[in-house]
Amino acid sequence: MVDIKQLHNKCKQSLRLYFHNQKNSLLQTVCKADLKYSPLNLSEFSAIELISGTQHIQSLMQDWKMKAVHGRYPHALDAPEVDNAASNEWLIHSGIYAETEGFMIAIQDQVIATRNYSKYIMRATVENDLCRRCQKQTETIHHITGACVTLAATEYLTRHNQVAKIVHQSLAIQHKLVTEELPYFKYTPDAVIENRTSKLYWDRSVLTDRPMPHNRPDIIVVEKEVNQAFLIDIGVPNTHNLQDCYMEKYRKYQSLAYEIKDLWKLEKVEVIPVIISTTGVIPKSLNTSLEKFNMVEKRGAIQKSVILSTSSIVRKFLNMN
Ligand SMILES: [Zn+2]
Repeated sequence: MVDIKQLHNKCKQSLRLYFHNQKNSLLQTVCKADLKYSPLNLSEFSAIELISGTQHIQSLMQDWKMKAVHGRYPHALDAPEVDNAASNEWLIHSGIYAETEGFMIAIQDQVIATRNYSKYIMRATVENDLCRRCQKQTETIHHITGACVTLAATEYLTRHNQVAKIVHQSLAIQHKLVTEELPYFKYTPDAVIENRTSKLYWDRSVLTDRPMPHNRPDIIVVEKEVNQAFLIDIGVPNTHNLQDCYMEKYRKYQSLAYEIKDLWKLEKVEVIPVIISTTGVIPKSLNTSLEKFNMVEKRGAIQKSVILSTSSIVRKFLNMN
C-alpha cells in the first residue's frame, strides 16, 4: 500500500536536507531567507514527522476497512475463502496499463458513476436509478459487472469464454493434443480433440440414457490411461457470490458425473469448478482446481483476462446513455 502523503513528506524531507547540507554560502543564505516562500520552507530546520512503516500501513488499512462503501473490498479480501495475496498479484505482475489499473481499482472501490452512485453518494438529481440497459434493477457497479441480464449472453459470456479458453488450451498442450501455444484471445478450441491417451471436449452436450438437466459443462477431459475424467465448469461471479457460485457449479454436474462414469466405464469422474470474481479476486478454490491440472502458473493470465474484460464491460456500459 502506498501512502501519497507519506511519499510527499519523504521527498520534502530529503530535499530540505540536500539544501541544508550545501556548503555554498549563497545557498545557505537562501535557506535562511526562505521563510515559507518556497514549499520547502528551508528556514525550518526541524525534521518532518514520518510515521513508522508497518504501524502506519496497518492504521491506513484499518481506516480503509472502516469506510462504508470503499471498505467492502478490503473486507472481501479478508474472507476465509479468499486468497488475499493472489488476489492482489495483478497489481505487480500483470503489465496492465496504468489507466486500466486505476479504473479497476475504482471499480473495486465502488467509485464509478453508476446511477445509484450518482443519486445516493454524489446526491445528484437522478430521476431513475434503474439500470439503463435492463430497466429492472438498481444500477450499481455490481449490477454492471455481473448481474445485468442484458449482458449475460454477450459480454459476460465472452469474459467467461476467455477463462475457459486459457484452461482448455493448457489442458490441450499438456495432453499433447495441440503443439503450438497461441494467445488465449486467438485460440479457438475444437469441439472434440483426441489422441491415444486423452480426449478433450469443448462446450459439448453429453448424450446420456437418462435425460440430464445439466449435460453441457464447459470442458470435459478424459484421461484414458488412468480411466478417469474431469468435468470443468467456469464461473465469473461478483466477489460476494464466489462461494455460492462454486457450490452451484459443483452440485450442478454431479448427476452427469455419475452417469458418465457408468456410461463410459471410467474409474473416477470429478467435477472441478474454476471460479474467479469479476474483479479478479481469487478464491482458494481456484488454486485447488488449477493444482489438479498442474496449471497454477495460468492463474495470472486468468486474472488478467477477467480484469481486462470487466474493465471493458464497465467502460462500454457507462458510455451508453
Ligand atoms: Zn441491467
